[in-house]
Amino acid sequence: MTARVVASEPPRHTIYTEAMEVFHRAADLIGLDRRVRMELEEPDYEHIFYVTVKLHTRLSPLAAHDQPRYKDLPDSELLPDGLEPLLDGSFVFKRRALINANLVMRDGVVRLKGKGLYRVVPGRPERFKAYRVQHNQARGPYKGGTRYHQDVSLDLFKVLAAEMTWKTAIADVPFGGGKGGIKVDPKTLSSEELEALTLRYMYRLKPLIGPNLDIPAPDVGTDGTVMGLLLRQFTDGERERHSLRGVVTGKDTRIGGSEGRVKATGQGLAYCIQEWYADRGATPAGTRFLLQGFGNVGSNAAEILAGMGSKLLAVNDAGGTIFNPNGIDVPDLISYVYDNPSNLRRTVAGYPKAQQISKNDLWDVDADILIPAALGGEITGPVAERLKVKLVAEGANGPTTPEGDRVLAKRGIELIPDIIGNAGGVTVSYYEWIQNKRMEHWSEIEVNGRLEQAIKSNYRIIRDVSRNTPRRTATHNSQRYCIGREVDMRTAAMVLALKRIEAHYQLEGFSQ
Ligand code: NAD
Repeated sequence: MTARVVASEPPRHTIYTEAMEVFHRAADLIGLDRRVRMELEEPDYEHIFYVTVKLHTRLSPLAAHDQPRYKDLPDSELLPDGLEPLLDGSFVFKRRALINANLVMRDGVVRLKGKGLYRVVPGRPERFKAYRVQHNQARGPYKGGTRYHQDVSLDLFKVLAAEMTWKTAIADVPFGGGKGGIKVDPKTLSSEELEALTLRYMYRLKPLIGPNLDIPAPDVGTDGTVMGLLLRQFTDGERERHSLRGVVTGKDTRIGGSEGRVKATGQGLAYCIQEWYADRGATPAGTRFLLQGFGNVGSNAAEILAGMGSKLLAVNDAGGTIFNPNGIDVPDLISYVYDNPSNLRRTVAGYPKAQQISKNDLWDVDADILIPAALGGEITGPVAERLKVKLVAEGANGPTTPEGDRVLAKRGIELIPDIIGNAGGVTVSYYEWIQNKRMEHWSEIEVNGRLEQAIKSNYRIIRDVSRNTPRRTATHNSQRYCIGREVDMRTAAMVLALKRIEAHYQLEGFSQ
């Protein structure tokens, strides 16, 4: 008899396998139970489905090389009210645009008075790929955001869902991890089309989620308005719909959202930074910080830190980079970005009270703190080599690459890792969920008081694990989590997450 030996294939290298490196490192260090490790290595469920939506007729800017052919095309006059401008430069065409219109079209091209040449793209149905990854529910219902973005993939949602499993454990809220969304560039859709897409997404998602099963929240490309639509579609026609409000978090405060939720992620990051300084007998007052990303997390963290007396020196976002060695007035920058209707892209670029510099130069600015609050993978090895800061406080998910981590450690630059740094959002989502269950509404002071206590005590546990200094104080107890040796902060955070998850399997067992 001959035996055939089949060589096992080496595991495929993906963003998921890369993101799981720290999981495996921490699992090895604590000797994580083999079966628990298997349960956590891959998600419980990976849902991929499709949603169709009818897109309206739109007017898309005519390509430059086609323009000379239409240079004699006369102006068309359409009712401006019937044209919805989109951020990609096109217009959604509504029938009322034709009221008293003067329309001249040649080969489907029109010239809009004062705007230029556009091609009419007739309305059509379109199919979008949608996802919901449910990673693990050992500690409670799946919990995680909903992302609308053109670059999403199953692997990305697996990474983000697993991160939620670790983050909910670190924040010590009774949830597991999930994440989902739609592969779409929301800038290319009208508000009506986005509404239709969102309702259809929930129509398909409804059998898979629920307030005690899986609870979505906002993420990149979605907000409180989208959460309101998801809530409406989920509860539509339900007999006890008011008891289902906790099916999504991040809602508007007028329909069951929590006070303090919008600022919560930036607030949590500011509490971590405050605690980092408190540990050194100092405060953030008089320090200087750099920021990447001036969206929800970045702008709120900046405003709160500035309120603590720290000075913002430079900001980079998708539109550009600004720098002022004397400090940037954060409330003034917020109003430049958010209250200025002509700043359509909501960018810091062009802010008149600072110099415009290149993104590359941001990394060379001498400061105390760098807050990445934009995208993943920005602090690479070469970027980390250049930084002139003492602390990197991660607001974004996964902003530092594994190589970036190694360089920061080598250079003695300290780190507040993302899974505690930006855990304020999910912590206040939990408060929203409890308020919905109890039909209560807490004040912002109450929310922030609880958030501060929760973030700081979990941060202290991670710091103790990192330094291997088991302690029990009035505010935290790290004795159960220290592992008998020092580890870096990112690994320490993962140790805390895994020990909290493992306890559920050890004490509750495995369902058969
Ligand atoms: P947002 O959409 O409100 O803002 C994103 C910011 O990043 C914008 O200022 C944008 O200009 C900037 N940006 C985009 N592309 C860029 C690029 N190529 N270079 C530089 N800047 C760029 O998003 P947000 O809610 O503030 O989230 C930011 C990060 O924080 C994301 O990684 C998100 O996953 C993470 N996060 C957010 C929350 C939350 O509660 N909002 C919670 C946890 C983690």
